[in-house]
Amino acid sequence: MQKMVILGATGSIGTSTLSVISVNPEAYSVYALVANTNVDKMLVLCERYKPNVVHMVDTQAALSLQARLDNKLHIEVTTGEDQLNSLVTASCVDTVMAAIVGAAGLVPTLAAVKAGKRVLLANKESLVMSGRLFIEEMRRSGAQVLPVDSEHNAIFQALPESVQQNIGVCELDQAGVSHILLTGSGGPFLTSDLNSLAQMTPAQACQHPNWTMGRKISVDSASMMNKGLEYIEARWLFNASAEQLKVVIHPQSVIHSMVQYRDGSVLAQLGCPDMRTPIAHCLSYPQRTYSGVEPLDFFKVGQLSFLEPDFTRFPCLSLAIEACEQGQEAATVLNAANEISVAAFLNNEINFTDIAKVNEICLSQVEKLNLNSIDDILALDVQTRVYASEWVSKI
Ligand code: NDP
Repeated sequence: MQKMVILGATGSIGTSTLSVISVNPEAYSVYALVANTNVDKMLVLCERYKPNVVHMVDTQAALSLQARLDNKLHIEVTTGEDQLNSLVTASCVDTVMAAIVGAAGLVPTLAAVKAGKRVLLANKESLVMSGRLFIEEMRRSGAQVLPVDSEHNAIFQALPESVQQNIGVCELDQAGVSHILLTGSGGPFLTSDLNSLAQMTPAQACQHPNWTMGRKISVDSASMMNKGLEYIEARWLFNASAEQLKVVIHPQSVIHSMVQYRDGSVLAQLGCPDMRTPIAHCLSYPQRTYSGVEPLDFFKVGQLSFLEPDFTRFPCLSLAIEACEQGQEAATVLNAANEISVAAFLNNEINFTDIAKVNEICLSQVEKLNLNSIDDILALDVQTRVYASEWVSKI
């Protein structure tokens, strides 16, 4: 029985994780659920999953949840940074699902890594922000990090066991790998008229053709910043060079990514676009378990197609590849700028095409720094958010 903490329990990945756990009640138990403000949803989850502890990052939300639970279910409600740290590092906890959205996920995810937990990593932003430091902590503590992101999970599945056991420091070349082919659907605006992109609304941007996800990652998918963040994530997880990483547009989202070997073989992982599959894979690795996902029906799929990415349509993708080449400062800055610009777009303060503009301005200001600690990274993140917010107001 794996005892679990679910960070981001009220979100899309949190919900899918709890759904896989429901299919396998004998294998996983929910020790703690963590969210920010969503008391209504957390109340439903408490009644259904009866965790020992619930943590709300927002203090008012914690008070409100406590009042509404009225001690009926004997669930401890906590709030505060230290309490969250204690929760993810508690000795009784085996596995932490890291599914808080954005930079807010960095500190608790890293705490779980430092404590040597089995960490199921959905929060790609934490690895983008902290790259080398994250991998070093993982090696130091012996934490097992398993990639939940469907693309990285697919790549992981298509790599040999010797690489799977050495995440972050593996030698792709020694394993005979020539390329990692990171696939992406191209999102809702893949074929839209380029002149219409500035007028696209948050509702249109969040209408992904294949996946149902939270709002931030949905907008990132529409701008392909999501693929850019995944490019950086893949660089760290698989110790891949720029030459070894390629992005391929695959509109059907049936192939979730591929590994090309030097003998010409290409191994791919296929499945329905449903996050319960990679979540179930991570939960049960190296075994297999039930996810509740329908088997893929090849006769319904019919055709699979592939395109080269169009960097004019998706400037955020090239910004992320550039940031990856530039180094950690640039990746941290781009991530922070993007969180501000996406939030401003979702709030109807800027146009869809302004997201790339704000991101580009922030990236052009990156200076060489010594990012030797998480505090250095968090300081750069805060500083960039202020700068990006100023540009949002100017636009
Ligand atoms: P959602 O927006 O659906 O959920 C976000 C979760 O994070 C909620 O539980 C939310 O709590 C919590 N949260 C938000 N802000 C904070 C904060 N400051 N402190 C603590 N918790 C917070 O996001 P997704 O589930 O879509 O995505 C989560 C992560 O997984 C992202 O990093 C995303 O990139 C990654 N991912 C998502 C995929 C998907 O299919 N959705 C696929 C692959 C990766 P509350 O509800 O209370 O606000």
